Amino acid sequence: MVYGDERDSFRIGSYRGIPVFLHWTWILGALIVLAVGSFDLLAAIGLVLGATLVIFVHELGHAAILRAYRGRVLAIAFFAWGGECRYVDEDLDPLQRSVVAWGGVLGQAALFAIAWMVVGTRKRFGVSFVDALVWAMLAMNVRMMVLNLLPVRPFDGRHALSLPLQVFRRYRARRTAEDTLKNVRRKGHLRLVGKDDAG
Ligand SMILES: [Zn+2]
Repeated sequence: MVYGDERDSFRIGSYRGIPVFLHWTWILGALIVLAVGSFDLLAAIGLVLGATLVIFVHELGHAAILRAYRGRVLAIAFFAWGGECRYVDEDLDPLQRSVVAWGGVLGQAALFAIAWMVVGTRKRFGVSFVDALVWAMLAMNVRMMVLNLLPVRPFDGRHALSLPLQVFRRYRARRTAEDTLKNVRRKGHLRLVGKDDAG
């Protein structure tokens, strides 16, 4: 476990009982963005805050669905390359795992919707901090949603995109169970009829 370890992560607090960590790579990444964007420091700060917010709502989306399934969320952590929601998923079936994987993108979509309702199609506000924050919550957010749905490791798409297949499997399993039950009932019924006839 890379975080939760005090040597490489800082606990910055907790949200609804979930400990939140900053990994050292996040701090380094933020410093690089601030240094590179120092000609417009406010914009750079807006970008870092916006990106962190997008990652946070993504991880909260996973956490919310996990909790709905009574799963245990252990921690949320920020890295330079994104975030991670750490949880115990042994009790989840493949369908539930797929729904949990969608939680991240759904969280991002919720943030996008709220930001869109507030700012609409307006892109420039004349304050570079606000412009960068809005860009992160809208344009960057959408790009990150697409990226997150790639069906390869370590992206959520790997589990999320199998949702239709998992729903179909669940449906087929239920149908098979129902058919078996019907057959048992019919056979039982026939046996009863047979018995009546014999008697
Ligand atoms: Zn995710």
